Amino acid sequence: MTSPTPLPTPVVRPTPGSGGLVDRYGRTATDLRVSLTDRCNLRCTYCMPPEGLDWLPKVEVLTDEEIVRLVRIGVERLGIREVRFTGGEPLLRPGLPGIVAAATALTPRPEVSLTTNAIGLARIAPALAEAGLDRINVSLDTVDPARFKQLTHRDRLDDVLAGLAAAQAAGLTPVKVNAVLLHGINDVDAVPLLDFCLEHGYQLRFIEQMPLDAHHAWTRGRMVTAEDILERLSTAHTLTPDTEERGSAPAERWLVDGGPATVGVIASVTRSFCGTCDRTRLTADGQIRNCLFAREESDLRTALRSGATDDELADRWRVATLGKLPGHGIDDPSFLQPTRPMSAIGG
Ligand code: SAM
Ligand code: SF4
Repeated sequence: MTSPTPLPTPVVRPTPGSGGLVDRYGRTATDLRVSLTDRCNLRCTYCMPPEGLDWLPKVEVLTDEEIVRLVRIGVERLGIREVRFTGGEPLLRPGLPGIVAAATALTPRPEVSLTTNAIGLARIAPALAEAGLDRINVSLDTVDPARFKQLTHRDRLDDVLAGLAAAQAAGLTPVKVNAVLLHGINDVDAVPLLDFCLEHGYQLRFIEQMPLDAHHAWTRGRMVTAEDILERLSTAHTLTPDTEERGSAPAERWLVDGGPATVGVIASVTRSFCGTCDRTRLTADGQIRNCLFAREESDLRTALRSGATDDELADRWRVATLGKLPGHGIDDPSFLQPTRPMSAIGG
């Protein structure tokens, strides 16, 4: 694997009032992740406990109109070029097709994508394509029904497979598959997952497990690293580094058996890419987060519900971005896991 990007040196503090989302290290956020809900219908063991979590009170969750307004401000005033809807499980949000349609109607037209567990996708994929959705990422950690049930506490593998097929049929391509591997549970699924994705034309990316589980059970020693994943895949396939420019994309990619198919690894923990990060995040309850691992957030919901103008909201977002740290600091002995779990941040 290539060396991680060095962290930038702090530059001059940008002045709020105009321009995009520039932080003190010179990075510009152009990729907005919007969590539409913290609720979910699966219980992936690395994400949520089997009994679920205390969901956000409904009154605290942004309405469809509020979400669309903030996305519009991001696109029209702050230079956002990509919008990804996520959660929790975004398909649980009844207004999703309308939110997608509003986002794709913006000028300049952002690229709009969705990260989902695909439960219910078979039914709604055509409506999402009709609304202008460009691409979809589906999370799938095993193609073995028993292990799927063990990992998610739900017997829903068939729904996910049907959702994947429907997304592809609806043209929501390239369909990407995200997989998290856990030692002794589904690490044996690395090769079967790749074979499944090669067979169906889906692009597989493995994500290193991050310390964002609600029950704080992550340990570095127990996580499956990028090196482990590559070693497993290499037992069945020849992997050669993809020389295509990576830019700010989090996945390092390998050509499989000479290509053109590729497999990606998002090594957030062992090969962090904070130096090229271009993300900003909006939680379902209207908080701006600069990083998955941030321990601070900026409240846009209160300002929005108190009558703030678009200019004022844009300025708050710019100021929030100034607080973005140079890196996630997982390797720092003083690292503390954020209070919000991944499902309430939006992965
Ligand atoms: N429910 C949707 C799904 O699963 O795709 C969207 C939200 S989920 C939080 C987004 C992504 O985060 C999924 O691909 C999931 O596998 C990943 N994820 C969740 N918890 C994680 C963790 N602790 N470490 C790494 N990835 C995680
Ligand atoms: Fe739900 Fe996604 Fe978390 Fe799994 S990873 S429990 S599907 S939010």
